[in-house]
Amino acid sequence: MKGISLFLAPKVLVGDDGKLGQANALRAGSLEHKLGIHGSPTCVMLFEGAKAELVGGLGQGLPNMFVMMNAARLQVGTQGTAIAERAYQQALYFSQDRAQGRSAWTGAYPARLFDHPDVRRTLVLMKAHIEAARGICLSTAVAADLAHAAPDEATRTAAKLREELLTPIAKAWSTDVGVWVASQGVQIHGGMGFIEETGAAQHYRDARIAPIYEGTNGIQAIDLVGRKLMLGEGQAVGDLMDDIRDTIDLLKASDLKGVGLRLEAALDAAAAATAWLIERRTKAMPDALAGATAYQKLLGDTVGGWMLAKGALAAAGEADTDWAESKRALARVFAEAVLAQVPGAAAGVMIGAADFEAMTPEVLGA
Ligand SMILES: Cc1cc2nc3c(=O)[nH]c(=O)nc-3n(C[C@H](O)[C@H](O)[C@H](O)COP(=O)(O)OP(=O)(O)OC[C@H]3O[C@@H](n4cnc5c(N)ncnc54)[C@H](O)[C@@H]3O)c2cc1C
Repeated sequence: MKGISLFLAPKVLVGDDGKLGQANALRAGSLEHKLGIHGSPTCVMLFEGAKAELVGGLGQGLPNMFVMMNAARLQVGTQGTAIAERAYQQALYFSQDRAQGRSAWTGAYPARLFDHPDVRRTLVLMKAHIEAARGICLSTAVAADLAHAAPDEATRTAAKLREELLTPIAKAWSTDVGVWVASQGVQIHGGMGFIEETGAAQHYRDARIAPIYEGTNGIQAIDLVGRKLMLGEGQAVGDLMDDIRDTIDLLKASDLKGVGLRLEAALDAAAAATAWLIERRTKAMPDALAGATAYQKLLGDTVGGWMLAKGALAAAGEADTDWAESKRALARVFAEAVLAQVPGAAAGVMIGAADFEAMTPEVLGA
């Protein structure tokens, strides 16, 4: 990829007189047949004999393309969150429309799907993940804005570190959430989820591209571990963890102490995994790379739990008590169901690469 150049090819050539001339020699060679996003045609473009203008310096195509790609990574994270929200709303509606079984809570028969604790838990976890992903994407966007427009240089520098650290998480964690939530949406529809007429399956298919394009989530994880952990010589991740600890202190002094303790255990595990990765990436890079995706999820879960906790704290004292209590419930559920798993997941980050290296095609195929 090194040395490629970036060109802008107009559809219609412009003459020296500034008037539109003949069509440029570019054409779609074929349309791709895709798993999802059928409303967005993807094609193979042929530029044989086309005229184009060089954008930036010769051989500088890749760095120039990254200007677009950094913004696009956050936008794709937002896309994952948005599809998740649509899938959630549809499942929430369907769960109240479809009658099935008896309610464990009220004994009512027939009950709505919504009245089954397992279905309700699924819906709450879907919503918690969506709000966490939205918080991560918004925080990344705020950091990007501050990095660009804050009046003082110290704020701009700190915001740039935060933006760069959070961008792979915003992209990868949020798009994984998109696929997971859309899959849960299908599940809540039961058999009708697998039937096209409900539309639940479309969200699942549409969500699946987001972990792939604009740099696969595996590549985001490598960026996180290989580059972002060392940003500012570790200051970016250190500052993030300090900010999370500040929230933990507030939580522990409030009636959300349980959330604070779960977040603290998750952060301690994330800090241990971070230290291990930083040590491994200088001594044995394959070890760090083998743990990269697991670490990205672990840090995303931790930052997501932090977002929900901050939301719950901020909602305290709001006039709309139902809304404020829902924020607190989401933070509690996420802490118990997701943050509680982070210490175990840290062990999964620190497996090392030796067992994977030993798994040759012959061993794996046996
Ligand atoms: C619908 C659609 C629209 C697209 N639109 C555009 C577009 O507008 N512009 C554009 O330029 N591209 C576009 N793409 C291309 C897209 O960005 C790439 O498909 C994507 O970046 C993955 O690259 P790849 O297909 O070459 O996969 P590969 O690079 O072959 O990756 C395959 C797998 O191997 C993993 N992998 C690869 N390299 C490494 C590594 N070094 N270490 C660890 N794991 C690795 C990946 O994570 C992935 O899981 C589009 C693709 C699709 C499907």
